Amino acid sequence: MEKSLKVAVIGAGVAGLAAARELRREGQQVVVVYEKSDQLGGTWVYDPRVESDPLGLDPNREIVHGSLYSSLCTNLPRQLMSFSDYPFEIRKNGELRTFPDHEEVLEYLNKFARDFGLVELIRFNTEVVRVQRVNDQWIVGSRSTMSDFSLEEAFDAVIVCNGHHTQPRIADIPGIKKWPGKQIHSHNYRVPETFLDQVVVVIGDGPSAHDISKDIAKAAKEVHLSSRSPEIKVSKLDCYGNIWKHPKIDCVCENGEVAFQDGVSVHADIILHCTGYNYDFPFLETNGIVSVDDNRVGPLYKHVFPPKLAPSLSFIGISLTVDLFHMIEFQAKWMARVLTSKVLLPSENEMLIDIEQQYKRLEEAGKLKHYTHNLLYDEFEYQDWLAAQVGEPGADEGLKQITRTLLKFLADNGWFRYFRALGTLFSPRTLSPPSQQSLVPDLLKSATLSFLRIFSHMRRASKQGPLHFFGTTPRVHLS
Ligand SMILES: Cc1cc2nc3c(=O)[nH]c(=O)nc-3n(C[C@H](O)[C@H](O)[C@H](O)COP(=O)(O)OP(=O)(O)OC[C@H]3O[C@@H](n4cnc5c(N)ncnc54)[C@H](O)[C@@H]3O)c2cc1C
Repeated sequence: MEKSLKVAVIGAGVAGLAAARELRREGQQVVVVYEKSDQLGGTWVYDPRVESDPLGLDPNREIVHGSLYSSLCTNLPRQLMSFSDYPFEIRKNGELRTFPDHEEVLEYLNKFARDFGLVELIRFNTEVVRVQRVNDQWIVGSRSTMSDFSLEEAFDAVIVCNGHHTQPRIADIPGIKKWPGKQIHSHNYRVPETFLDQVVVVIGDGPSAHDISKDIAKAAKEVHLSSRSPEIKVSKLDCYGNIWKHPKIDCVCENGEVAFQDGVSVHADIILHCTGYNYDFPFLETNGIVSVDDNRVGPLYKHVFPPKLAPSLSFIGISLTVDLFHMIEFQAKWMARVLTSKVLLPSENEMLIDIEQQYKRLEEAGKLKHYTHNLLYDEFEYQDWLAAQVGEPGADEGLKQITRTLLKFLADNGWFRYFRALGTLFSPRTLSPPSQQSLVPDLLKSATLSFLRIFSHMRRASKQGPLHFFGTTPRVHLS
């Protein structure tokens, strides 16, 4: 029988909790989950604090982990915001809502941790400051966030689950050094009131840029949403009197003007960067064996194991997919079984060749390096591969094909930006006035509902029950 390993997990968010559960299931007796905050849940812990540098660039600032804004609801139905064998059944005011808010997700994670006995594995208020391989062990250095206490401990394996929505990436704008206005990254956006009567330029094309623009529009005088999509011409956003869409910013000027690439310019008070995040592992000392280059964490075999340090070092939750909870769960199962040698990894050289081939495929597809971990269009292949490693069935071929078509359809129409808006529209508590519902085209609504239906099948709907839209009123029933 394999000897039980001593394993350190860094972070008690979705990834850390999933990893800890699988490690315990595989019989690891000593699992220590380091969590620098006083709560589990990671991203889903709403923190009203913002950082001293609103752009989040000052290396000496006190870092706030969370990036949630107060009004945020999930952009996926609860069936996709849960682990496969643990349904999302958190009620708000007696309602089982399809698109829960962040408090409900946090409650779900707390319940999950309690039910699987994970809370007692977590060392709260303990930040990992050093992870280093010494001989055949990992030394984990940690410090208390409440006192001067610090500690070094040896582990057989380390699982990195520290999240990647904390270190802002900002847009490079010609003339920005002399522009007199205020700049902020969405990491530090919480509530719209701070934008009262301001003219705000929001940069970004993802769900957060669109969602935050609408949130800010409640207080701001004007919101100008600037996206990279080349086809965008200046226009008002349907049903919003004070939101305009623009193409990319051309430059900004000393007099406060922001000039867009189509020749239009506005005099703005604030630029809000909704431009994503960088991976960051400040505690990891691997002598360059694992590095972050233009947001590519590498080399990582299948986004989890660095070949030279495998299997004793692994990363869970690095890759970006729609069905994130499920992907994290599969990665955690795979990692835990590799550690017990129930599943074997290829040789170091074979893993490196596989990674090189992945990079080559990305390059041939014209994808930039920083999209290395974005698996939106490959997520079925990836999930199937992980499923096969742990002996579980992959997704049905027909469902995959339809979903790919739908994803392409949504992307070709620039409609990914509506995802979070859909969540808001379908949520009974935050149901927008009827006039605003036309913001989401009917075609998109039906396409998205089909998409969600497919996903709900993939999540083996039989385990979690059918999808009910509009809260408890089954006006749209997907089974
Ligand atoms: C604004 C926003 C909206 C989102 N909306 C959705 C959505 O609707 N649906 C969805 O599926 N996903 C959404 N996501 C993605 C979300 O990040 C994932 O759902 C998930 O929370 C990621 O979990 P994680 O465990 O990888 O990271 P995190 O949740 O970030 O957890 C990492 C944990 O590690 C801890 N930690 C970090 N460094 C250390 C250290 N050195 N020592 C000790 N502890 C440490 C942190 O305190 C934290 O608790 C959203 C993300 C953001 C930012």
